[in-house]
Amino acid sequence: MATEFTDSNLETLYSAAQISERVAELGAEIARDYAAKDLVFIGILKGSCIFLADLIRTVDLRLTIDFMAVSSYKDEKVSSGDVEILKDLTNPIRGKDVIICEDIVDTGLTLFRLLEILGSRGANSIKIATLLDKPAPRLKKELKIDYCGFQIPNKFVVGYGLDAAGRYRNLPFIGVVKNPDEL
Ligand code: 5GP
Repeated sequence: MATEFTDSNLETLYSAAQISERVAELGAEIARDYAAKDLVFIGILKGSCIFLADLIRTVDLRLTIDFMAVSSYKDEKVSSGDVEILKDLTNPIRGKDVIICEDIVDTGLTLFRLLEILGSRGANSIKIATLLDKPAPRLKKELKIDYCGFQIPNKFVVGYGLDAAGRYRNLPFIGVVKNPDEL
């Protein structure tokens, strides 16, 4: 990528090249697992938009996509404790094989609630793909992550779709915020 992004408050955790390589590995794995299935990727807006866009282009299958928007963190850096659906799916998932695509799993609360909500809609299967997974203790131990890009330290990260108060989503890399008070 030609564009240089510089921000003295960010330290690169994963470069664009590292992300691209890992995303392609996940895509190949998914293509093997879902051959001959009716696969739909559900992107959770807004954070997963870049991961989803890159991931699906590495999955050599006739798949479809849909989106949901939920609020959990709003503009804060700690969990608000509940999940509100701001935008629901456009199409039914009955009989489909679903992969929910997330940017990052922290407490797991968002995905746990989403699994409850989508689990009642008659899908053939529902699995989870996340680019990042934090080691924070899960609120719900039952949450199983099927495809994970990277396990990361328990720090606040931005870039590649992840924001801080709406900004930084356009960074092509994932960075750790050195001083959150300076965001
Ligand atoms: P969970 O419900 O798993 O605690 O939180 C998931 C959501 O919290 C993510 O989709 C993301 O919006 C937000 N989140 C959690 N950790 C981070 C982080 O380190 N950076 C950013 N930008 N968002 C985060």
